[in-house]
Amino acid sequence: MNFEILATCPVTGARAGLLHTAHGTIETPVFMPVGTQATVKGVLQRDLAGELDARIILANTYHLFLRPGADLIKNLGGLHKFMSWDRAILTDSGGFQVFSLSDRCKISDEGVLFHSHLNGDAHLFTPQSTIDAQLAFGSDIAMVLDECPPYPVTHEVARAAMLRTVQWAGIGYSHYLEQEAPDTAVFPIVQGSMFEDLRAECALRLQELDAPGYAIGGLSVGEPREISLEIAAFTAGLLPCAKPRYAMGVGTPKELAEHVARGVDMMDCVMPSRNARNGYLFTGSGRVIIKQARYRDDQGPVDADCGCYTCRTFSRAYLRHLFQAGEMLFSTLATIHNLRHYLDRMRGLRAAILDGTFPAFLTTVQALPA
Ligand SMILES: [Zn+2]
Repeated sequence: MNFEILATCPVTGARAGLLHTAHGTIETPVFMPVGTQATVKGVLQRDLAGELDARIILANTYHLFLRPGADLIKNLGGLHKFMSWDRAILTDSGGFQVFSLSDRCKISDEGVLFHSHLNGDAHLFTPQSTIDAQLAFGSDIAMVLDECPPYPVTHEVARAAMLRTVQWAGIGYSHYLEQEAPDTAVFPIVQGSMFEDLRAECALRLQELDAPGYAIGGLSVGEPREISLEIAAFTAGLLPCAKPRYAMGVGTPKELAEHVARGVDMMDCVMPSRNARNGYLFTGSGRVIIKQARYRDDQGPVDADCGCYTCRTFSRAYLRHLFQAGEMLFSTLATIHNLRHYLDRMRGLRAAILDGTFPAFLTTVQALPA
């Protein structure tokens, strides 16, 4: 993997670049649609690549490790072949889901022992085993196992989790280097909850690994959004300029711009796809809650400024009908629109960085409705 910065906004520090992976080049800043179970829910791979032109998607190690299993995916030729997706894939370490989904988990220096939320079976995730699983998938970008504490936590608890994250990153990264997997890049994750001193210590120590990119974890765990943004900005500023910075699990359409303005290059969030399935559609003039009676006979598109298949083809009235009738087509059409909204927003930010108009563009975006 190789990262090239093409332009940096002199006012804000926002960057536009190219991330070259074994499965294609990704224009940054980039939003990565979430494909938890090796599928972006409701969207065909054909449309992800064609209609949406997503260059990279995210899949979840925890879910795929439990079902169908890393060995099975490896034996079937890896995750790209298994899901028929020849563009880039980033997988998380599984740490976040272990802490949020599994029934019981017990953390030790060795790793985290947990019980599957599917059938209660006990499993142990270690820094080495989560790298092995991601190498079995053939991920283009893999993450090291981290300990992601909830919010709020005491400084003492956050410090212990941060130190364990640093220790696991060292073990996981050394293990990865021994495997000779040139097509997979591994990113460590900066933790430290909302404490700047812990974030600073973590970022500094992880840089000793000289990894090709760094992630900012521990966000979107229940903290107020302003704090989330502040701590992401603080952490991004501690990371090496020449390497991609990935803010995990953010954000709203407006927050994308705020993170980009603070030098973040990569983001992912379930919000566009989850909100779509629940009938919340993002537009340039605010959110459309499709079940509202006002859309019952509305012949206009969801967003007149959007060029997606859904907006080119269907009326708000039809989409509302599909939603009210519980038709599965609604989820597909709504997800296509919301993802296109996110991807177009990111492409607009990138274009503004490249042509030197980012500060003005940011002001325009900040003035948009939430
Ligand atoms: Zn649309």
